[in-house]
Amino acid sequence: ATPTSIMVATGRAASMGILFRHGEALQALRETQVIAFDKTGTLTVGRPQLTDLEPAEGVDRDSALRLIAAAEQASEHPSARALVEAATAAGQTLPPASDFQARAGFGVSAEVEGRQVRVGNARLMAEAGIDTAPFRERADTLAGAGKSPLFAALDDQLIAVLAVADTLKPGAAETIRALHARQIEVVMITGDNRRTAEAIAREAGIDRMFAEVLPDGKVAVIETLREGGRRVAFVGDGINDAPALVEADVGIAIGTGTDVAIESADAVLMSGDVLGVTRAVELSHATLRNIR
Ligand code: ADP
Ligand code: MG
Repeated sequence: ATPTSIMVATGRAASMGILFRHGEALQALRETQVIAFDKTGTLTVGRPQLTDLEPAEGVDRDSALRLIAAAEQASEHPSARALVEAATAAGQTLPPASDFQARAGFGVSAEVEGRQVRVGNARLMAEAGIDTAPFRERADTLAGAGKSPLFAALDDQLIAVLAVADTLKPGAAETIRALHARQIEVVMITGDNRRTAEAIAREAGIDRMFAEVLPDGKVAVIETLREGGRRVAFVGDGINDAPALVEADVGIAIGTGTDVAIESADAVLMSGDVLGVTRAVELSHATLRNIR
């Protein structure tokens, strides 16, 4: 490609809201055989809602929600925000929490009214030695419907199973269809539950996914995808997506995402519209075809 044609193409990309940090990214995108997407905030809107809350026997639903939201107050995780919003919308005033601890990829723990409250996934409960078996079937059903199941415990006693659900961005399925039409393999990477991820991947038309990936595990997934010399692009928005954006041959950040993701990327989709990925790929092909 001539420097001029690359400049013209990156200019056209910019007018479509796709900012290329350097011309090589456009050329690298032309050679890309695999595109991996983060799930939450990239393929999905990233604003989950509380959809289900089933208290354990003898536990009052409102009291459970109040304690759960109190423990989550200090968390910045999207699931935490959904729980606090649900409690607030139900007119609850949240008691303060102390000893707050967030475990990335697991959940949170805090002391509320002198008692320990834990909210998180099955992994968090297993680590604390709390048996989730009584709620496992319920959790599996919720996950099968594409919802993310969570558990809550009060002083080591399970008090509720709950679920939050996020929706696919408009354009997510269309993007994936267009990439498949170009013979590009599409992969989803998420920290979420395997069943939940499977249901969402199915809805989006994605055939390969890596679920229950810990926050620092995304880089290793990109390394795996690059085996055999395949060129890999990664699309993400979060703080913990930054290393994978750097590791990928082309890192594409969602412009509505975190600053650290944007700074780590080779290209940025300003509006957060994932269709920008397809447009960028099409542009890379058009540009590099014209100059041959
Ligand atoms: P993702 O954004 O793909 O869900 P994360 O690594 O942020 O990935 O989280 C992985 C999982 O850890 C979540 O799906 C959830 O089950 C659990 N988790 C993380 N933070 C919290 C929290 N504050 N409250 C409850 N669960 C949490
Ligand atoms: Mg994300």
